[in-house]
Amino acid sequence: MMKDTVSQLLQARRRLAGQMPDPSIALAGSLMSRMIRCNKPGCRSCEKGKGKGHGPIWILSVSAGNQRVRQIPVPAHLK
Ligand SMILES: [Zn+2]
Repeated sequence: MMKDTVSQLLQARRRLAGQMPDPSIALAGSLMSRMIRCNKPGCRSCEKGKGKGHGPIWILSVSAGNQRVRQIPVPAHLK
Protein backbone atom coordinates (compact mmCIF):
# COMPACT_ATOMS: atom_id res chain seq x y z
CA MET A 1 0.00 0.00 0.00
CA MET A 2 2.66 2.45 1.13
CA LYS A 3 4.91 1.32 -1.67
CA ASP A 4 2.18 1.97 -4.22
CA THR A 5 1.75 5.52 -2.99
CA VAL A 6 5.46 6.17 -3.19
CA SER A 7 5.74 4.86 -6.70
CA GLN A 8 2.69 6.88 -7.69
CA LEU A 9 4.29 9.99 -6.28
CA LEU A 10 7.55 9.25 -8.05
CA GLN A 11 5.66 8.78 -11.26
CA ALA A 12 3.81 12.05 -10.79
CA ARG A 13 7.07 13.80 -10.07
CA ARG A 14 8.65 12.43 -13.24
CA ARG A 15 5.61 13.53 -15.22
CA LEU A 16 5.74 17.04 -13.75
CA ALA A 17 9.47 17.29 -14.33
CA GLY A 18 8.84 16.41 -17.96
CA GLN A 19 6.46 19.34 -18.22
CA MET A 20 9.04 21.84 -17.04
CA PRO A 21 10.23 24.26 -19.69
CA ASP A 22 13.75 23.93 -20.94
CA PRO A 23 15.85 25.66 -18.26
CA SER A 24 18.17 27.04 -20.90
CA ILE A 25 15.34 29.10 -22.38
CA ALA A 26 13.28 29.76 -19.26
CA LEU A 27 14.18 33.02 -17.62
CA ALA A 28 13.42 33.85 -14.04
CA GLY A 29 12.70 37.51 -13.98
CA SER A 30 10.13 40.15 -13.63
CA LEU A 31 8.52 42.34 -16.18
CA MET A 32 8.09 45.94 -15.33
CA SER A 33 7.24 49.14 -17.07
CA ARG A 34 8.86 52.47 -16.69
CA MET A 35 8.98 55.86 -18.22
CA ILE A 36 12.23 56.92 -19.83
CA ARG A 37 13.77 60.29 -20.46
CA CYS A 38 15.53 61.02 -23.70
CA ASN A 39 17.54 63.93 -22.28
CA LYS A 40 17.18 65.92 -25.47
CA PRO A 41 17.31 69.62 -24.73
CA GLY A 42 13.92 71.23 -25.19
CA CYS A 43 11.97 67.96 -25.18
CA ARG A 44 8.58 68.74 -23.67
CA SER A 45 8.00 65.23 -22.42
CA CYS A 46 11.20 65.30 -20.42
CA GLU A 47 11.00 68.84 -19.12
CA LYS A 48 12.22 68.97 -15.55
CA GLY A 49 9.46 68.80 -12.97
CA LYS A 50 6.69 68.76 -15.58
CA GLY A 51 7.37 66.10 -18.16
CA LYS A 52 6.48 62.50 -17.57
CA GLY A 53 9.06 61.15 -19.97
CA HIS A 54 8.44 58.74 -22.81
CA GLY A 55 6.81 55.39 -22.63
CA PRO A 56 5.99 53.44 -20.71
CA ILE A 57 8.49 50.95 -22.02
CA TRP A 58 8.62 47.36 -20.80
CA ILE A 59 11.70 45.95 -19.22
CA LEU A 60 12.46 42.39 -18.30
CA SER A 61 14.64 42.30 -15.24
CA VAL A 62 16.66 39.09 -15.10
CA SER A 63 19.09 37.94 -12.49
CA ALA A 64 22.41 37.24 -14.19
CA GLY A 65 24.09 35.76 -11.13
CA ASN A 66 26.84 37.42 -9.14
CA GLN A 67 24.12 39.67 -7.73
CA ARG A 68 23.90 41.41 -11.06
CA VAL A 69 20.66 42.17 -12.83
CA ARG A 70 20.28 42.47 -16.57
CA GLN A 71 17.57 44.74 -17.83
CA ILE A 72 16.28 43.82 -21.24
CA PRO A 73 13.93 46.17 -23.06
CA VAL A 74 10.86 44.33 -24.35
CA PRO A 75 8.96 45.61 -27.38
CA ALA A 76 5.33 46.26 -26.45
CA HIS A 77 4.04 43.63 -28.85
CA LEU A 78 6.17 40.94 -27.18
CA LYS A 79 5.07 41.84 -23.70
ZN1 LIG B 1 12.16 63.32 -24.25
